[in-house]
Amino acid sequence: MNLSFKKDCHNHTKFCNHASGKMEEYVFKAIKKGIKSFCFLEHLESGINLSKRLWMNEEDIPIYLNICNNLKEKFKEKIEIKCGVELGFNPFAVSELMKKIEEYPFDPIGLSLHYKYIPQLKRWINLVSVKNFDTDIFKFMTDDEITLDYINTLITALDFFTPDFICHLNAISKNIKFNLENKEIEKSLKFLFKKMKQKNIDLEINLSGFDYTGEPFPNYKIIKMAKSFDLKFVLGSDSHSPEEVGKNFEKFKKYMENKKTN
Ligand SMILES: [Zn+2]
Ligand SMILES: [Zn+2]
Repeated sequence: MNLSFKKDCHNHTKFCNHASGKMEEYVFKAIKKGIKSFCFLEHLESGINLSKRLWMNEEDIPIYLNICNNLKEKFKEKIEIKCGVELGFNPFAVSELMKKIEEYPFDPIGLSLHYKYIPQLKRWINLVSVKNFDTDIFKFMTDDEITLDYINTLITALDFFTPDFICHLNAISKNIKFNLENKEIEKSLKFLFKKMKQKNIDLEINLSGFDYTGEPFPNYKIIKMAKSFDLKFVLGSDSHSPEEVGKNFEKFKKYMENKKTN
């Protein structure tokens, strides 16, 4: 499997308003864990309305990049540091999002999907939060409909963006049954992988999944499917505190070994 265990591609900072610790502390932890390549990947969203902001303030973006670039320089002998962004796709704010990633030199760009607007409820639902998940969505959509819509929205996102990788593909399984037995869902997922391959987009294996479902996002079955499309993978801890940098890497190694021998 084309995968580096010395690289953590997904780490947050206090700028997203729901993570803690100094950026430098994340770097110390990464060095301590033997990580050779470390990416900050802060949340960027546009046009989402929630009671609490869970992404960077526009005015914080240059400050975030400045701190990151200083750390990159300071620690360059010890570790490679990258200053990226977790770009949250919103089909209603494509031009605003495009403008932001053109304006700032984010590297890498990880694309994800966290929120869905429900017109009947006139509000945004956080699909990937366990704590703030709004089950009212089930009044209007079934699990399979949400999943299909989620994958199809990611496919649409790739008409506008060419990120370096797609983040935590099935993180909605925290709240929604991600049913691969559904032929339409399987077909859409395969179409997404085909498009990712054409555009040379990697797939993140997000290890925070272990804390919610006991499996990474995506799980072995989806990883296997992605492999059949010859996709490349990157590992991410999705740390929201310095302690979480490189979290669950060992667990993932064992998980893959177990799956292979079973
Ligand atoms: Zn987050
Ligand atoms: Zn995310």
